[in-house]
Amino acid sequence: GVAVAACTVAALVVGRRVRSRRKWKRVVGVLKEMEESCETTVGRLKQVVDAMAVEMHAGLASEGGSKLKMLLTFVDNLPSGSEKGIFYALDLGGTNFRVLRVELGGQRSDLDPDVEQQPIPEQLMTGRSEDLFDFIASSLYQFVEKNDSVQSPITKLLGFTFSFPVKQTSVSSGVLIKWTKGFAIRDMVEKEVAGALQQALTRKGLNMRVSVLVNDTVGTLALGHYHDADTVAAVIIGTGTNACYWERTDAIIKCQGLLTTSGGMVVNMEWGNFWSSHLPRTSYDIELDAESPNPNDQGFEKMISGMYLGDIVRRVILRMSEESDVFGPVSSRLYLPFTLRTPLMAAMHEDDSPELTQVARILKDVLDIPDIPLKARKLVVKICDVVTRRAARLAAAGIVGILKKIGRDGSGGITGGRSRSDIKMRRTAVAVEGSLYTQYTMFREYLHEALNEILGEDIARHVVVIVTEDGSGTGAALLAASHSSE
Ligand code: ADP
Ligand code: MG
Repeated sequence: GVAVAACTVAALVVGRRVRSRRKWKRVVGVLKEMEESCETTVGRLKQVVDAMAVEMHAGLASEGGSKLKMLLTFVDNLPSGSEKGIFYALDLGGTNFRVLRVELGGQRSDLDPDVEQQPIPEQLMTGRSEDLFDFIASSLYQFVEKNDSVQSPITKLLGFTFSFPVKQTSVSSGVLIKWTKGFAIRDMVEKEVAGALQQALTRKGLNMRVSVLVNDTVGTLALGHYHDADTVAAVIIGTGTNACYWERTDAIIKCQGLLTTSGGMVVNMEWGNFWSSHLPRTSYDIELDAESPNPNDQGFEKMISGMYLGDIVRRVILRMSEESDVFGPVSSRLYLPFTLRTPLMAAMHEDDSPELTQVARILKDVLDIPDIPLKARKLVVKICDVVTRRAARLAAAGIVGILKKIGRDGSGGITGGRSRSDIKMRRTAVAVEGSLYTQYTMFREYLHEALNEILGEDIARHVVVIVTEDGSGTGAALLAASHSSE
């Protein structure tokens, strides 16, 4: 009797082990499927590069010709470093706004701006435009008073960074297309943005002129160009993602007869909305998009930027948790969108402790998944790696797409012909900003690695990525300086 009982127990144990091995196999299957659909071989990235260049063309050819809006900025010269004088900037684009003053001494002088930041009272974000701009004008008045004479007869110049979609009508004016990020001031929509600020400044009796109206990518390009005259494009990879670059005016076909003294103009791509069938898309991306407040919008951004990466990871963990018990019983927190923020995802990805203690802590504290075995923690790191690697490599492909469009990718332009080695590649700089890039080492390294792979080392040697700091503030002040004669 005893012997029989022992056999039954052993059979039970073996049965359980087989079942759990089968479940582990299922989880590995989910991972494998996800890895395959996130595949970014160099061949595929090159297809994305080509698609980006083609869409840029289409967006420049006609209004609505592409998902890329390719907005004119009317910024037709970039700071050279020779600017002199005192300039101000106002940066409005989120929950805080900043005012800033910079003194320029020519000869690429060091920039050491005075900056003040203030939260925008919530009721002003959904009230009347006059109240918002009066509030901003008052803050600006107090800020100016600290350093300069507010009554001075010399008109002070202000660069205004307004990071909402604007249809620009000149370098210093534009109409708000729609609010985003929690703002909802109805009487502002389709109204002139810089004009509204200018009127408030005048009401306040502040002798200051809004001389440029720009978005944050344009500020970043300006700051990059101030430091390095080879800078031709700027990319922001933070909560969202966007890029702008310097284009020849004769390539901006949708605006016939556009003339500038420099022969060029900065174009704001709004690249977050880029789309191509070559993008490696997973079921997680499709679900994320469908459940978002803006489905079918900002497809590129949803695969790349800080707002979304953590949530893609959450979705994969949820799927695995539903298909097996490697994460214990399915945690209800896994069903909550955006519970896993990207900085925490980065912390798990970059956990280099042998026991992955950071991973364990974050899973427990944030997702309510306690005590999982090391191999399951390793799995989480792997998921983060796949999601970030894809994002960074796609961002790199986007950058090369821009370089290709302007003939700086070493391929001899869209017409091609010459072989790579025949071409004398000009040094080319791209300004990059945004915490995803600056704070997430693995993201940054994957991006650089992909640039090298796509361009090839010979060409990549001539392409430098420069990190600028606070282009949305300082860059706007620099543009106020370089456009001061207009
Ligand atoms: P914004 O884009 O809002 O102007 P940032 O450029 O600072 O501001 O980007 C903020 C975003 O960057 C956050 O929403 C987050 O997704 C991401 N982020 C911030 N810190 C980190 C980090 N340490 N690791 C990874 N991502 C980060
Ligand atoms: Mg920003």
